[in-house]
Amino acid sequence: MSNDSKLIILGSTGSIGKSTLEVIKHNKDNFEIICLTADSSSVALAEQINLFKPMYAYLNNHLLIDDLKSRLIHNQTTVITDTNQLHDILKSDLYSTLVSSMSGSTGLLLTFLALQTNKKVLLANKESLVMAGDLFSQYRKQIIPIDSEHNAIFQVTGNLDSEEVKKIILTASGGPFRVYPRSKFDQITVEMALKHPNWSMGRKITIDSATMMNKCLEIIEAYYLFNLKSDQIDVVVHPESIIHSIVNFKDGSSLCQFSKPNMQIPISYALGYPKRINSGMDSFDLSSIENLNFSKVDHDKFPSINYAYEALSGSGSSCLIINAANELAVNAFLEGQISFLSIFSIIEESFNVSLNATNSNIEEILDADYICRQKIKPIIKKYMIN
Ligand code: MG
Repeated sequence: MSNDSKLIILGSTGSIGKSTLEVIKHNKDNFEIICLTADSSSVALAEQINLFKPMYAYLNNHLLIDDLKSRLIHNQTTVITDTNQLHDILKSDLYSTLVSSMSGSTGLLLTFLALQTNKKVLLANKESLVMAGDLFSQYRKQIIPIDSEHNAIFQVTGNLDSEEVKKIILTASGGPFRVYPRSKFDQITVEMALKHPNWSMGRKITIDSATMMNKCLEIIEAYYLFNLKSDQIDVVVHPESIIHSIVNFKDGSSLCQFSKPNMQIPISYALGYPKRINSGMDSFDLSSIENLNFSKVDHDKFPSINYAYEALSGSGSSCLIINAANELAVNAFLEGQISFLSIFSIIEESFNVSLNATNSNIEEILDADYICRQKIKPIIKKYMIN
């Protein structure tokens, strides 16, 4: 087995992590798992360790380590909870490819350690790219996007700078509130927002889809990933989520990638690249659907799309600020502390947060993120329901 097939999966018990392991089950002889990591899902992690026998497994919640160990049926895996030890593994030559599938900002440093030591990074953790765009774009050629829209564009164009590309159009499902009246947005509950029509995903990204902040983050992600100008990135609402993005070329031709809305397809493309491997999924049968619909984004209903363009034209820290504001607001919403509509208000107010950071290295970005969150917390407090 070549070193190119030795993987670390960050967030292996999350939605993307599970789908990655599902693809690996279909290609067992071609990949070796070096390390799996999870936050606190000890039961799911133990099952994965028993099946895939990685060299290491990291559990963030050390209180659950005995529970995890009690569930293991072999002793081929070294279980760790020390973050420094995880950092050493990420900096080592034990592996070649990182699947960065943690949710939120916690994946930033870990993903950076892999990039810095010349590893291939299959990136699902869009937040890290949004926070550290300038820094990460220096390592652009090492990154293969897993995010379905960006993966679709990558399938069409690769990550080459191309003067032939006029524009890319990210498709958006529109989430659960696409046809829900704006006048009733004040009645949206957590339960309603967690019901995505097409995709089965983690809680944070599902709320991001409901606010369309997911698409805002994806515009920023595309900007850094494909080295485009912000006016070269557009969004179209496509409720069926069959076409996963479109590239307009300067001759008037457009190419798109389409498939069932299942993450195993973009993951398998990233894992096998430049070859195509078995994803475990069938092709999409166009005759199985009567209509594919497309429409413009309703910006009055979803101001979030415009936050991306505002952030990209703002100071170097604007993207980091809206990412932090969104992450804190989504957590507060999921905990029932703020209303759905307050997520937008909190992000809008956070644009006024000032940060004196050049964001030229990872330490500065992590410090800026910490300071930024301290400044956003009082804004969140203002919107708390009780
Ligand atoms: Mg996406």
